[in-house]
Amino acid sequence: EIVLSVSDLTASVDGTPILKGVNLEVKAGEIHAIMGPNGSGKSTFSKILAGHPAYEVTGGEVIFQGQNLLEMEPEDRARSGVFLAFQYPLEIPGVSNLDFLRVAYNSKRKAQGLEELEPFDFEDLVHEKLDVVKMDSAFLNRSVNEGFSGGEKKRNEILQMALLEPKIAILDETDSGLDIDALKIVAGGVNQLANPQNATIMITHYQRLLDYIIPDYVHVMARGQILMCGGKELALELESRGYDWILEQDFETV
Ligand code: ADP
Ligand code: MG
Ligand code: MG
Repeated sequence: EIVLSVSDLTASVDGTPILKGVNLEVKAGEIHAIMGPNGSGKSTFSKILAGHPAYEVTGGEVIFQGQNLLEMEPEDRARSGVFLAFQYPLEIPGVSNLDFLRVAYNSKRKAQGLEELEPFDFEDLVHEKLDVVKMDSAFLNRSVNEGFSGGEKKRNEILQMALLEPKIAILDETDSGLDIDALKIVAGGVNQLANPQNATIMITHYQRLLDYIIPDYVHVMARGQILMCGGKELALELESRGYDWILEQDFETV
C-alpha cells in the first residue's frame, strides 16, 4: 500500500526556487530517513507536505492515500492523517496543552464521522499516552510548549502524535537539542507508534537518532533534490564520509 507518492516536486519561497524536483515513495510499514546538509530543503519539504502557506509549489505532484495532497487545506491534511512534528515547535501562550490536544483529537474524530470524546474519557486517553513519552501529567495544564525545554517540546510533539495516530508522521529534526536520555525516550515513542499500517519520515542531521530508530531507507537531500537513496548503512557512510562526496558527483539537474 503506497501511503505517499511525491513526483518531481518543485517549490519556491518569495520567488526563489528551493525544491528542484523531489521524488519519494513511501509505503505502509516503512520508516524513511531524509538526511542532508543544512539549507538543502528538508524543512521546506516537510512544511510543504503539511501545507505551510509560505511555500509556493511550482510543479509536480504529491499523492497521499490516493488523494491529491496539494489541493487539500492544511487542516484537512492533518485530519486525514498527515502529522508534522516541527523542528521548532510553536509556543501557544494562554492555551492549555490539554485543551489543545483535545481540540486536535476531537477534530480528527469528527473528520472520521465519530462523536467527540467526553472530557473525562479524553483525560484517561491522554494519561495512557503520556506513558509513551514518559511525560508528567503536570505538562497538560501548562500552556502549549510555553517555557518547555527543547527536550520537553519534542516529547510533547510525540505525545500529539501518539494521540492523533497519523497515517504518516513527518519528524523534522526531532533529535536536535536532545540529550541522550530524551533522545531515547523520543525514539522509543516513535518506535512504539510505528506499525505496519502507518509510515514515518524522519528528517535528521545526524546518524545518532538512527541508532535508535532503524530506517528502511535513507535518502540524501541536497540542493533541493534527493540525490541518493540507500538502506540504513548509508547513514553510517554519511557519518564517516560527510556529504561532499555526494555533492561532488556530477548530477543532472531535473
Ligand atoms: P534544511 O531544513 O535542509 O536545513 P530549509 O528547507 O530550512 O533547509 O531551507 C532551504 C533553503 O530555503 C535555505 O536556503 C533557506 O534559507 C531557504 N528558506 C527556507 N524557508 C524560507 C523562507 N521562509 N524564506 C526565505 N528563505 C527560506
Ligand atoms: Mg524528500
Ligand atoms: Mg531544517
